Amino acid sequence: MGVRTVTFRLEGGRYVFATSDREVWIVSQHKQEAAELFTRVVRAFAEKGVRFYIEAYEDLGPWRRTLREAGATSRLRLGKTPPPLDRVRWQMPGAPVADAPPPVFQSWEDYMARTTLQQRMPRCYAASKKANRKRLISGAPFTRITAADVWLVIEAARGRCIHCGSLAVESRPSKANGAPAPWAQVGRRIGSLEHLKARVIGGDNFKENLAWACLWCNTWPNERRRAAEDHGGFYPDDAVQDSLTIAGHVVGDA
Ligand SMILES: [Zn+2]
Repeated sequence: MGVRTVTFRLEGGRYVFATSDREVWIVSQHKQEAAELFTRVVRAFAEKGVRFYIEAYEDLGPWRRTLREAGATSRLRLGKTPPPLDRVRWQMPGAPVADAPPPVFQSWEDYMARTTLQQRMPRCYAASKKANRKRLISGAPFTRITAADVWLVIEAARGRCIHCGSLAVESRPSKANGAPAPWAQVGRRIGSLEHLKARVIGGDNFKENLAWACLWCNTWPNERRRAAEDHGGFYPDDAVQDSLTIAGHVVGDA
């Protein structure tokens, strides 16, 4: 299946392993955590016959050996300038963020009462289409899902994020002309389909691997804090209690 090149570098004070297009993109403030996560990715892909070649612009220390044993080769490029990566398409944790507007929906019941099936299904269709898409590295999923499958996931979760518990049924904000607008200020209120075991480390569209998550938690594993108040986190009374129960069954993947 070939060899993928990743660079290892410091970017904005964080350690990053990334392919140039960021399809594989491991970020952490701690070198050890970044290296551990990337080692898991290397092992998962070695099983699929994909190998990694690491151009290391920062010292890997003992991890160089660990990664080699996991199946990745590397070359040290200390003191050289790494080639640019594709632009980040998301707002990073810690970046300045606008104040959150009031929630669009006051509860799950309010969401159900004020939206129609015809309004709810397009997002389910979009999520299923994205989940079924072939990716450069992880390839095509084994299991295809439908919009109806996605709706079952949302309904079972009553729209709440499996990680932080926020009611996550809003859509991404858009500008007047329809273009995507910044969303970090309401990141915990935007719903998204979560793969509990990430596709990139071998997770698939099996029902047991699907969950509903807010876009902020889905995008940033380090931000998965229960009942977090930042990024628009919104917890109607009934939601926190129930989602705590749900969280008891989660096997973390961060
Ligand atoms: Zn969340």
